[in-house]
Amino acid sequence: MVEKTSRMASELNKLTIADASSKLRAREITATQLTRDCLDRIAAAEPRLHAFITVCEKEALEQARAADARLAAGNAPALCGIPLGIKDIYATKGIRTTCASRILENFVPPFDATVIERLRADGAIFVGKTNMDEFAMGSSTENSAFGPTMNPHDTARVAGGSSGGSAAAVAAHECLGSLGTDTGGSIREPASFCGVVGIKPTYSRVSRYGVVAYASSLDQVGPFARSVRDAAIILRTLAGKDVRDSTCSARPVPDYERALTGDVGRLRIGVPREYFVEGMQPEVEKSIRSALKNYESLGASTVEISLPHTGYAIAAYYLVATAEASANLARYDGIRFGLRVNAEDNIALYETTRAKGFGAEVKRRIMLGTFALSAGYYDAYYLKAQKVRTLIRNDFERAFEKCDLIVTPVAPTTAFKIGEKMNDPLTMYLSDIFTISVNLAGLPGMSIPCGHDSNNLPIGMQLIAPPFAEETILRAGDAFERTGTFKPRTPAV
Ligand code: GLN
Repeated sequence: MVEKTSRMASELNKLTIADASSKLRAREITATQLTRDCLDRIAAAEPRLHAFITVCEKEALEQARAADARLAAGNAPALCGIPLGIKDIYATKGIRTTCASRILENFVPPFDATVIERLRADGAIFVGKTNMDEFAMGSSTENSAFGPTMNPHDTARVAGGSSGGSAAAVAAHECLGSLGTDTGGSIREPASFCGVVGIKPTYSRVSRYGVVAYASSLDQVGPFARSVRDAAIILRTLAGKDVRDSTCSARPVPDYERALTGDVGRLRIGVPREYFVEGMQPEVEKSIRSALKNYESLGASTVEISLPHTGYAIAAYYLVATAEASANLARYDGIRFGLRVNAEDNIALYETTRAKGFGAEVKRRIMLGTFALSAGYYDAYYLKAQKVRTLIRNDFERAFEKCDLIVTPVAPTTAFKIGEKMNDPLTMYLSDIFTISVNLAGLPGMSIPCGHDSNNLPIGMQLIAPPFAEETILRAGDAFERTGTFKPRTPAV
């Protein structure tokens, strides 16, 4: 009991990764204490949050013991002993990976995704698999077959999506960092709603081997953390060539932490006219404009830019993403893995398995995508969407002739109420209006907290850079944090 009380009082789970890592390496704390504090916090907060689908207490404590042995031997990597949450879309050897779908409810992968393997090799600890929209399709985590994740700042509101569990878990101190995936905004939007940092790296920067595919020309892997420095530390381990993913770039990985010099003098920041639109919450615009003033006071300059094809982004995205999803999800047929509903012949088996295994939004996407790809419609829909995609990418290329970084809001509003948009898929799709173009263009983007609205809900700012300029984003994000003008609030839960 005494031990428990002193452990509760220590609240090591509230440390940043950078601080925990130096304390671990100085042997001031142990990975086991740190992991226990996270697990205690998970036990206390989960009934109100539901950020996790699976909590891996036993495995996490085993990993912690191994990390402590390695830390005692000296020279351990920065992530050694750091408890992380993993979106339930990553294949984790021996730990079930559901994608928040009934169709994979009991699927236990026999292998690790490349990024999981890399984190393990560094000695990171996995406290559990986080909740998400089914197959990453959604913006609120309400499409999870296992029920929604609640926002730690207000449990009547959504955590964002599709990586809502990963964002909420970090915001609520259930772990120190986490992994998400971002196809159209699924890292940046929940980061914004939960008041944490989230990075979607350049397309091809991080391997996707072992990550369940949603829309392969858009999907990208990335971290959540409570500071830009922490996100940089995780990204450094994730990024880099993988022979098992032919879409993954062989470009050398910079030491992202080194980019955090605090210097943004001479940085030219582009502010796109099309991203400050009518209908957006005035407090969101106010926060972004005041952050821009901050940058100017640090020596950066701002310039108005135009991304003229922004208005076509959602339509293009929902053609490309659904077309690719309809092909990617064909593999869940009841034969190879996951759910099987037996029937008299193969066709009936496929049909009943898929009818029972997939949720409504996933079915909607498969139907839209199959239609867009069907004979006679391909040119009118998929091909046209690809052409619009090129125009969107060209918009960014032209804009980056005038600036080094683009700053925008992440979402038009702060976190909305649970249930508010569930019966209106089109309104839900509009939540991604500011993030989707970045995926279509393959660029890196980051969400960092920059303010609160009158309901105390976090507001996120998006930083966008040219391909492989993650360092610019990280340097600018860290410089903003250092000004200390805005202090993220501790969530209510
Ligand atoms: N909300 C978008 C969608 O539903 C993006 C999701 C994502 O990035 N995975 O497709």
